[in-house]
Amino acid sequence: MTQTQDRRTFAIISHPDAGKTTLTEKLLYFGGAIHLAGEVKARGQARRARSDWMKIEQQRGISVTSSVMTFEREGITFNLLDTPGHEDFSEDTYRTLTAVDSAVMVIDVAKGIESQTRKLFEVCRLRSVPIITFVNKVDREGRENFETLDEIADLLALDVTPMTWPVGLGGQFEGVYDLVGNRLLLPEGPSREFQGKVIQTTGLDDPKLDEVLSADGVAKLREDAELAMVGYAPFDATAYRNGDLTPVYFGSALKQFGVDALIGALAEHAPPPRPQPAEPEPVAPTRDEVTGFVFKVQANMDPNHRDRIAFMRLCSGTFKRGMKLTPTGHGKPIAIHSPILFFAQDREIADEAFPGDIIGIPNHGTLRVGDTMSEKGSVRFTGLPNFAPEILRRVALKDPTKTKQLRKALDDMAEEGVTQVFYPEIGANLVIGVVGQLQLDVLISRLEAEYKVAAGLEMAPFETARWVTGDPAKLKEFTDINRAAMAKDRDGNPVFMAKSAWEVGYVSERYPDVKFAATRER
Ligand code: GDP
Repeated sequence: MTQTQDRRTFAIISHPDAGKTTLTEKLLYFGGAIHLAGEVKARGQARRARSDWMKIEQQRGISVTSSVMTFEREGITFNLLDTPGHEDFSEDTYRTLTAVDSAVMVIDVAKGIESQTRKLFEVCRLRSVPIITFVNKVDREGRENFETLDEIADLLALDVTPMTWPVGLGGQFEGVYDLVGNRLLLPEGPSREFQGKVIQTTGLDDPKLDEVLSADGVAKLREDAELAMVGYAPFDATAYRNGDLTPVYFGSALKQFGVDALIGALAEHAPPPRPQPAEPEPVAPTRDEVTGFVFKVQANMDPNHRDRIAFMRLCSGTFKRGMKLTPTGHGKPIAIHSPILFFAQDREIADEAFPGDIIGIPNHGTLRVGDTMSEKGSVRFTGLPNFAPEILRRVALKDPTKTKQLRKALDDMAEEGVTQVFYPEIGANLVIGVVGQLQLDVLISRLEAEYKVAAGLEMAPFETARWVTGDPAKLKEFTDINRAAMAKDRDGNPVFMAKSAWEVGYVSERYPDVKFAATRER
């Protein structure tokens, strides 16, 4: 089972501009996955198709699609799952975090914890995902290190352990001191990047430090680092793995400081694949049976073919090409002849994959987000949530003869988790729900580009929605009275559309026997 022990499946969480893209490139570069730090490429036709689709990404300077990048170093396989970095959330982002065993939180040294970092952190906390913190951009002016550390501890209610310490920031930046290995990393050349210049010391009082650092720099390093080592909890691997403590690495993704230490930390401390919540019982990675779950579906990488890729996280067993897996609860066994592994340079056909790996399964719409796949069809992974939409809109067709295409398109996109679609009990106009504004733009642009359906969005008289469950008689009473606000989701589950969050509170008090859920497990 060493293949499993040697895997680290993780995501980077951050606020836009904190440096996630830069850090990703450097991780891949140092991990030897790419020869030139740059964009992840797709092949031939797929590349052209993708580039059209990516127009919207370029226009807005953001990454809408997320992907999987794999790199190896010193016998460890790292699977980095990219999460879209824009302020607008999609459910994709949340769900991707259900497929990782740990996360790296990148924060900007000048800005500290920002709103999106915080939201993503909360999702990690729900699942006790352990977090390594990378405080980026120490080559720039920023806050005092103590202020940064205290903010992480206070806002996120975590213990913090500084593992490295920058010598000065911005104009005063002289290097990074590794508090664990007692090494000093120094900048070189006019760009003042880290190019491998390391001085091994015996500790903070080593006189070698006085030779290479300025008098002010070394004095402050000694004073601060000593204070930090007594002021913060020592590193505790168990507390980290339980999600109660975060080791903090200071660095500069742009100038390559701290990136190596970060990879080292992931290799040494981050957990290998963990047991996954499932029914009838959690699935340990050591189980022989091949099992996994689909956390993301990406359609139409090539608009000429309605093909899709289902991204499956392998949870147990050794997957072999050609193997048959059954989606639990629906459908026949599927023989997986051309699974895809996502190496950074290119997509590659996988022959074998291990727990913690992500494989892409091409299919024509049979696989859906939340699906469990297994050899025997005997388990079901739980905990992949649908989130209550925060924005609801009516879809208005410009050409009424396109109703069928519209339904098909909305169904497809609901399946991918781009949007949710609701079928109102009264009226013919479909209602779509999203978690963030960006998803609306994606929807309209894809309707036109891929399905040739011109449609507009109109305000709906509703703002949010809740899944309703409860005793059938009480539920019927509720739905009869509120018929104008009732709809069905794609799977036929009843949904109450509310004019405001306040209304949700109001009706849930009036109908104590009906349960109003903001998430629905699939
Ligand atoms: P993302 O939005 O989180 O993916 O952030 P990017 O990686 O695109 O970085 C945002 C901006 O910050 C870019 O202009 C980067 O060049 C810059 N940047 C990223 N890391 C560093 C760093 O360590 N030092 C400095 N000075 N700039 C950085």
